[in-house]
Amino acid sequence: MIPLPDPIMICGQGLAGTLLAWELVRLGSRVVVVDPGETVTSSKVAAGIVTPITGKRVALSHEAGTFLPEALACYAESSRVLGRAHFHERRQVRLWRNAEEPQRFAAKHGQPEFEAHVAPARGAPLVDLTKFKGAGEGFEMATSGWLDTRNWLADSAAWLESRGMLRRGRLEAASLRPDALGVTLPDGERMAAVVFCEGAEARRNPWFPWVTWKCAKGEILSLSIPDLAGERRIVNHGGWLLPMDGAGSFRTGSTYTWDELDQVPTAAARAELEERLGRLLRVPWTVTGHEAAVRPIIHQSLARLGRHPVHRTLAFFNGLGSKGVLHGPRYARLLAEHLVHGTALPMELDVAGN
Ligand SMILES: Cc1cc2nc3c(=O)[nH]c(=O)nc-3n(C[C@H](O)[C@H](O)[C@H](O)COP(=O)(O)OP(=O)(O)OC[C@H]3O[C@@H](n4cnc5c(N)ncnc54)[C@H](O)[C@@H]3O)c2cc1C
Repeated sequence: MIPLPDPIMICGQGLAGTLLAWELVRLGSRVVVVDPGETVTSSKVAAGIVTPITGKRVALSHEAGTFLPEALACYAESSRVLGRAHFHERRQVRLWRNAEEPQRFAAKHGQPEFEAHVAPARGAPLVDLTKFKGAGEGFEMATSGWLDTRNWLADSAAWLESRGMLRRGRLEAASLRPDALGVTLPDGERMAAVVFCEGAEARRNPWFPWVTWKCAKGEILSLSIPDLAGERRIVNHGGWLLPMDGAGSFRTGSTYTWDELDQVPTAAARAELEERLGRLLRVPWTVTGHEAAVRPIIHQSLARLGRHPVHRTLAFFNGLGSKGVLHGPRYARLLAEHLVHGTALPMELDVAGN
């Protein structure tokens, strides 16, 4: 009997590890994912929103034209396999916050790649002014939406587990013995390679000490807003208000802090988020939940992937930052093709050189 090739082990079943598992399976690789199944992680807390036009400059997100179609196709395919749709396409109302934003928007008017993400203008007000403060002026994004990350991860975990591809536990990176042909685990088991997808915890990974981290803690509130039941669009007002069910459940967020990188919800963040809501809403809300997690961000807010420069059977996939849902699928495909077929990675993403 011809022995099966050793599997590729993925350390971490967040967005990065799960996307990589899907891609490797698609390419026919044997995969083993190991994850402790903690209830609070960056991927589980994330709002999962995809916002193609962002920021004060009202700019088209980095290569949205490339990343967005690939992300939508990836979540459609995984949902087809899992039997449940996890990516929800939702229009996003972007309300102006100052006089410069409409000017910046107007300057891009007519650029086809920008216009492709803008819904046909329907005039102000874009929101019900008896419920929202301000003039309700801005524009609607046509190509936005959100991934229900918690359920997508849970369903993906169940799918992996049912095929014997998921192990519950924590991998001790320092205990691995890599060689030219694979990696030996502490119990002697062999893997063809180990890919570290540990999120912000990878700051302590001893194999990749040169990676320059810029992680940021983020906090999100869950809300009940009965007066906004029926609102299906995401409303962006500097922060965002995300309708969960069309029945008055929302989430709002998120904050950025860089000093205490823990998962403890803080009174300061809650006050900041409620203060923002107070500037947006005329109607009352009740806070029903409060979560915090750490976004894995690497220098230049760019993901890093690829093999270790010396120990080539150890690899890395991290730094999905604030846009993991949009950027993750493309990066996971690039890394899977690199690991299986040896295709080159874009230089700026290669962990070996960065
Ligand atoms: C408040 C907040 C809001 C966000 N909102 C959005 C948003 O709207 N849109 C968006 O695109 N992104 C958003 N993000 C960012 C998004 O969460 C990240 O880009 C993405 O989830 C990172 O995924 P990851 O798999 O790299 O890390 P993680 O989600 O941290 O996953 C890493 C996994 O590895 C496991 N692990 C770690 N060490 C080990 C080990 N030694 N052995 C085994 N397992 C291990 C962990 O338990 C975890 O399950 C948000 C993040 C936060 C915190």
